[in-house]
Amino acid sequence: DEDAAHVVSLIRSIPGFPKEGIIFRDFMPVLADARGLDILIRALEAALPVPADRFDLVAGLEARGFLFGPALAARLGKGFVAVRKAGKLPPQTVGESYTLEYGQATIEIETDAVAPGQRVLVVDDLIATGGTAKAAADLIEKCGGEVAGFSFVMELEGLQGTALLSDYPLSTLVTMP
Ligand code: 5GP
Repeated sequence: DEDAAHVVSLIRSIPGFPKEGIIFRDFMPVLADARGLDILIRALEAALPVPADRFDLVAGLEARGFLFGPALAARLGKGFVAVRKAGKLPPQTVGESYTLEYGQATIEIETDAVAPGQRVLVVDDLIATGGTAKAAADLIEKCGGEVAGFSFVMELEGLQGTALLSDYPLSTLVTMP
């Protein structure tokens, strides 16, 4: 519809960033646009992968998951947890390492951020290979939390990222080639 078209028209595609052969999908202009931001938050709420009474917390992935996760959480009456890159949070933290195309990365949360039995909706701007999101799920489960589902703004087609998360309910607003 018109709202979806407005959001899609604001997503910027940058060929060759951050390196040759990659087309970077940038949703910052959606956030900068008052109507775009309003549509985005409402669309995420409307497209939740599970009803809001099936989770207790929203967890956002660094860094772009921090930009809309708290707004969505506040709207739903939930708290927000930041899943950060290693070394940013004060002790005590719990971490999870995962494999990137080249090398390894580690993400962390504060040890008491997710209590055993808490159900968590994980949000990020974009799913590509799904590696980051899967690591976040493993991290939450390591803390005794339960992953209720995933919400993404964008999904890159052809990378099988959602296949890696097939054990979980998942929603994406926009699929990009
Ligand atoms: P994955 O782990 O699924 O391969 O990569 C997803 C992570 O990398 C997300 O945290 C996402 O923000 C970032 N990312 C990868 N490619 C893009 C892109 O084209 N645009 C944006 N905005 N983020 C990307």
